[in-house]
Amino acid sequence: MEPHILILGAPGAGKGTQSDRIVSEFGVDHVTTGDALRGNKEMDISHLGLEYDTPGEYMDKGELVPDAVVNEIVETALEEADGYVLDGYPRNLEQAQTLSEMTDLDVVLYLDVDEDVLVDRLTGRRVCEECGATYHVEFSPPEQAGVCDECGGDLYQREDDTEETARERIRVYEENTAPVVEFYDEEGQLVRVDGEGSPDEVWADVSDAVETNA
Ligand code: ADP
Ligand code: AMP
Repeated sequence: MEPHILILGAPGAGKGTQSDRIVSEFGVDHVTTGDALRGNKEMDISHLGLEYDTPGEYMDKGELVPDAVVNEIVETALEEADGYVLDGYPRNLEQAQTLSEMTDLDVVLYLDVDEDVLVDRLTGRRVCEECGATYHVEFSPPEQAGVCDECGGDLYQREDDTEETARERIRVYEENTAPVVEFYDEEGQLVRVDGEGSPDEVWADVSDAVETNA
């Protein structure tokens, strides 16, 4: 069976960057709630009677999209995946509980990065609108500014990657998601990786951890 990998870390810790490498190396699916929700920002969720009527309204404020919406996305995606790297979920203890009822995990990685580094990474992030490849204006720039090396697509800045929203997302992470990291740590499942080295240095530790545990 293909590995079931969970990757945890604050916004900007490098989860997407390392997940792309995991997908190439281990042949699993990338299941990412952030991308799934960005593709459905305008979805009508008014029937749920929540604070806002679309996922996008939560996302642009840096708040979590309600569990009822996110759990369903993950359940469908995991049913369809053979192996997977799950990125962006669970983001609170209720989601972690729901996940434990859906699937078993072989390895839980945690990318450890300091808050000041996170803000610089988030505000400099650029994403290809065609293929989703991720760049950074300073730390991993494309060969030609604004153009994807992989497919020639245009690069854009995510609406929630402004400094103000990035700081709010980190606050929301500390409040809701840091306890999830503690939860897996107490379960003895957590593999802590220093996320502050170069992408290649982080990858050396990530790939070791997957090979050893999955
Ligand atoms: P996450 O998915 O955890 O939010 P990303 O993988 O999108 O994070 O990375 C956030 C930004 O930081 C991107 O612009 C990416 O190019 C850059 N980045 C990722 N890993 C590193 C690293 N090890 N060192 C420097 N910059 C990095
Ligand atoms: P990300 O791409 O992981 O940085 O996620 C971007 C935004 O999508 C977050 O700030 C949330 O608004 C929303 N989001 C992504 N994953 C979840 C989740 N598991 N639970 C709630 N909201 C989420």
